[in-house]
Amino acid sequence: MRTPARPRRLAGTAALALALLAGLGPATAQLPTLGDPTDLSTRTERQIGERIARELYRDPDYLDDPVLVEYVQTLWQPLLAAARVRGELPPELDERYAWQVLLGRDRSINAFALPGGWLGLHLGLVSVTANRDELASVLAHELSHVTQRHIARMMTQQNRQAPLVMAAMVLGALAISKNPDAGQALILGGQAAAAQQQLNFSRDMEREADRVGLGVLTQAGFEPQGFVTMFDKLQQASRLNDSGAFPYLRTHPMTTERAADMQSRQQLAARPTIVPTLQHLLAAARARALSQAGVDAQRGLVAEAQASATSGQPSPRLAASVYAGALAASRLRDHDVAARLAARLRPLVQGDAAAERMARLLGAELALAAGAPARALEEIGPITGAQRPELLLGAQALVRTGRAAEAAQALQTWVSVQPRDAGAWQQLALAHAAQGQRVRAVRAEAEVQVAQLDYAAALDRFKAAQDLLRTPGAGDHIEASIIDTRARHVQSLLREQALER
Ligand SMILES: [Zn+2]
Repeated sequence: MRTPARPRRLAGTAALALALLAGLGPATAQLPTLGDPTDLSTRTERQIGERIARELYRDPDYLDDPVLVEYVQTLWQPLLAAARVRGELPPELDERYAWQVLLGRDRSINAFALPGGWLGLHLGLVSVTANRDELASVLAHELSHVTQRHIARMMTQQNRQAPLVMAAMVLGALAISKNPDAGQALILGGQAAAAQQQLNFSRDMEREADRVGLGVLTQAGFEPQGFVTMFDKLQQASRLNDSGAFPYLRTHPMTTERAADMQSRQQLAARPTIVPTLQHLLAAARARALSQAGVDAQRGLVAEAQASATSGQPSPRLAASVYAGALAASRLRDHDVAARLAARLRPLVQGDAAAERMARLLGAELALAAGAPARALEEIGPITGAQRPELLLGAQALVRTGRAAEAAQALQTWVSVQPRDAGAWQQLALAHAAQGQRVRAVRAEAEVQVAQLDYAAALDRFKAAQDLLRTPGAGDHIEASIIDTRARHVQSLLREQALER
């Protein structure tokens, strides 16, 4: 279960940033009230968070998997809504913070809250959840660390210096973590080792995140025992002391006291065991396949799927195994095996609309990977007005069947409503490029950078588009004026960042 050490990990990056922030003074268990004037302002916290998020977007482990991103949103959005209803999410935080969950490909079991309302969620954690309620409970707990402003309090209590010094320190830590061979030994020596020790939220903060998180979870309509079973799972891992694969435990200490607290809440009612949705089992299977980097691990998933497909009775678990095997086979470029497993999946999901859709999306994904974009389009159908996974997969298939104009049109409509969707802008750039529309392609590339908070890179692309426009016939004046406006806007965002140093 222990993960081999890998360079450039999402967890390492964020944990390190928090380690430095948290390690600057003695930890204290006292929680000041919300709105304490010594608290970091929400605006400053958001800015610090943006800088960290910008680095996470650049991390090779960052993953915009449309299927899993959408699935996590089906849990995350109800939790946010419930937090609003319960008054845990005051309008100021609601508006100022990002409230975005970033997925990391890493197979370690980890989730973490960052300043300014960003959450990191590793596929390793998604893959070990037995049902949606367990995954939602982790999100609810992290959400509550943010709404209770635990990070801000930690930073305020332990660093009286200018917030920008803190941001610079975070960035410094991020930079060092990008070169682990040179940096790791240095970072883990001396003072930084002490910082690592203090990475933990205080026990009081943990209890508060449990209490508030459980309330939010229940309000959102999830089963509260998901909190308990997930807790047990982490507790068990804690006993095995497998902190390599469970870095979550380092930031969220599991104490027997905390466990007892959780158990007593649950003794109110002995509820029946949660029956997982098929959709969740497939999502967890997808996370398992996508988080496995090695060829041997992928082969293992294929072998497991083939063995269970011939011997096992039709069951949700079998469907999950076959789903993971099909995806793994495709990643190994064994397209025939992938197609056979995907075909076996169909009858196993029949009658469950959400799972049937996941099987169709998998079919389209496998067809694209096998170089059969027309077959992918058959699975997806028309992409106008489609949901995000269908749109992004379908656009790729359209571009590859010489129908880039249709793809561009659908994507254009999408980004006009979702202007911060980097993945959609990326596809739009490809669709424009396929049509030979270089200015539009470069502008879309600029928007990818804006969405991922890299304003310097965005400005660079806008300037490249402006240069292209100087060649006759490259674009019309409407386009030129849009690009000028966007370039000025990004320039002002850059200046704002510079002023805050
Ligand atoms: Zn926690």
